[in-house]
Amino acid sequence: MYRLKRTLSAFVDILFPKTCHICSKDIRNPAVSFDAYICAGCASEMEKNPIVSCSLCAEPLTGEDEFEIQSLICRNCSKDRPEYKNLFACYAYGDKTKELIHRFKYENRPYLAKTLSQLMRNRLKEENSVLLSETDYIVPIPLYPARQREREFNQSNALAIKLSAFSGKPVIPALKKIRNTRPQASLKSKDRLKNMNGAFRLSTEYSHKGKRLLIIDDVVTTTATVREAARILKGSGAASISILAFAKG
Ligand SMILES: [Zn+2]
Ligand SMILES: [Zn+2]
Repeated sequence: MYRLKRTLSAFVDILFPKTCHICSKDIRNPAVSFDAYICAGCASEMEKNPIVSCSLCAEPLTGEDEFEIQSLICRNCSKDRPEYKNLFACYAYGDKTKELIHRFKYENRPYLAKTLSQLMRNRLKEENSVLLSETDYIVPIPLYPARQREREFNQSNALAIKLSAFSGKPVIPALKKIRNTRPQASLKSKDRLKNMNGAFRLSTEYSHKGKRLLIIDDVVTTTATVREAARILKGSGAASISILAFAKG
């Protein structure tokens, strides 16, 4: 039986060699692999979001504005504060991150949540971040049900479950998406907030009154989605809200 298994797995290796999902390099040798899905080179070359970036939208700060550098809040966010207290995007939207997210989300590879969440965990450690430890519940950004059926899984939920396993913090699906909003990427930034307005509803099965929540999203762009999610959760009694994203788009 063992021999059969071994022969089969050797066969599978020949037919489907283990290669990096980003650069296609052979990763059968553990010395060159980050995990079972990507190579160590791609993992280390992933573009990080600059340290000097806005703590509410992750937009890099130029350094020319003293107020921005002192507060780590960009002029736009200081004029229009969100209901959450901080946002951390682990990576910038570089070639490697883009490729990995594409494989994960659009090529239906939910198992890559393991790789993405491990990379996120590494970044949090590097930054000595207390985002995961100082939270009570993890809340994923929901997908509209029809969209989820099409994609077969919710990428934010998949990441939330993995981050929960690392941290022991429970996931509560506190939000439901009740409107199939237009893709944010197709809209001008002023229309994005309008597009998200009323897109979420609270799920009545969970109570988060007085709790510290950590919202998980795979990619944040203009923050319109997480702003709307935070507005609903804060309005229903959350003590505080933070945002954690894999990348800043
Ligand atoms: Zn690679
Ligand atoms: Zn900002």
